[in-house]
Amino acid sequence: MTETTHTLVIGAGQAGVATSTHLQKQGVPHIVLERDRIAERWRSERWDSLVANGPAWHDRFPDAEFTELDPDAFAPKESVADYFQRFAGDRSLPIRTGVAVTKLERQGDGFRATTAGGVIEAKNVVVATGPFQKPVIPTVVTDPGIVQMHSNAYRNPEALPAGAVLVVGAGSSGAQIAEELVRAGRKVYLSLGPHDRPPRRYRGQDFVWWLGKLGKWDMKAPAPGTEHITIAVSGAYGGATMDFRRLAGLGVTLLGRAGDYRDGVLRFANDLRTNIENGDRNYLSVLDEADAYVKAEGLDLPEEPEARNLLPLPDCVTNPALELDLKKEGIGTIIWATGFKLDFGWIDIDLFEGDGRPRHKEGVSVIPGLYFVGLPWLSCRGSSFIWGAWKDSERLAGLIAARG
Ligand SMILES: Cc1cc2nc3c(=O)[nH]c(=O)nc-3n(C[C@H](O)[C@H](O)[C@H](O)COP(=O)(O)OP(=O)(O)OC[C@H]3O[C@@H](n4cnc5c(N)ncnc54)[C@H](O)[C@@H]3O)c2cc1C
Repeated sequence: MTETTHTLVIGAGQAGVATSTHLQKQGVPHIVLERDRIAERWRSERWDSLVANGPAWHDRFPDAEFTELDPDAFAPKESVADYFQRFAGDRSLPIRTGVAVTKLERQGDGFRATTAGGVIEAKNVVVATGPFQKPVIPTVVTDPGIVQMHSNAYRNPEALPAGAVLVVGAGSSGAQIAEELVRAGRKVYLSLGPHDRPPRRYRGQDFVWWLGKLGKWDMKAPAPGTEHITIAVSGAYGGATMDFRRLAGLGVTLLGRAGDYRDGVLRFANDLRTNIENGDRNYLSVLDEADAYVKAEGLDLPEEPEARNLLPLPDCVTNPALELDLKKEGIGTIIWATGFKLDFGWIDIDLFEGDGRPRHKEGVSVIPGLYFVGLPWLSCRGSSFIWGAWKDSERLAGLIAARG
């Protein structure tokens, strides 16, 4: 069966839902295909206790509030998924669930998408299949006695086998998982690399408010070759600054960046103190920028000098372990919170860089009529986040409508 539409949107996470909303507003006929359920990744690729990183007043689309939540609360992941599902239902967006696109190719001036149920031909295609598609595990640990999983497969402490847990990676996922595990009474090791760790709140305002005021959400992509630094932030337990000294105080043993593995021993770079101190510098620089903003704008926000008091460096940082004998330390599980890569293997069109990224400018690909939305740094830092996908898709829907 072959069907024709003006614009095909692939994926119905937040980016696909936002795109469909804006296409509808522009009167552009379209179909959205989603292989699972709306916002599936929020349901089945996140751990049970995850809450949004930003408060409910911020982590949402401008057109609808989280009616069941206090605006300052952090939405549990199921509420986030329900929110997008409800949002799509209320607007009768033309989303078909359970339909995977297995191949996308060019056909004349347009495109041809293959699904199990048939073919869809479209003049335009918006790919909204997510910023975090395929788990990355950087090191091979060959020990059949140790359960290994990526952070997208972690659910809760009870689901892990007995024993100590090594969490590798200290962005938002790794830091939050390590804290949950140590609070559940597990012995936890946390390997951390370079990271930013902004204050959760400062002078009475949440950090997402500060990011907006300081123009950081709208920041353009770092220059090519500039390392993207992971950001450790958390809305868990009501929201607190991610402070690795505090985690050490709870019992987490901090380690440097994980390196190679041989004969049961995993090695770590001697960079732990540098990573912690650079993280502190990032934290303090946000306070400095916020103070300068308050002064420049003449705002009446309460001063908070105590935010600059850092706990002493814990022993595991001043005398870092550079290797772990996994068996000796009783490690039963390794959780790799080491990020994701893109996977566009199903797109049979010549537009990808060697690292798998599509060639595009702010979501407009080098192929006329083909667009991407929701990718990290698509147009700015906010692009892979809820409201960023909203803004990018609004702009792209305008371009599609103008194309006719
Ligand atoms: C642990 C974690 C916590 C996060 N927390 C926040 C947060 O608090 N706030 C925030 O703003 N952002 C957060 N993010 C970032 C981002 O908001 C999420 O990753 C979000 O899921 C991205 O939405 P998306 O629509 O771009 O992609 P996805 O949610 O990944 O949606 C893509 C959809 O496309 C579908 N799909 C894929 N391939 C195909 C295909 N071939 N055919 C049909 N359908 C397909 C998938 O099933 C999926 O439903 C978080 C990310 C992670 C990993």
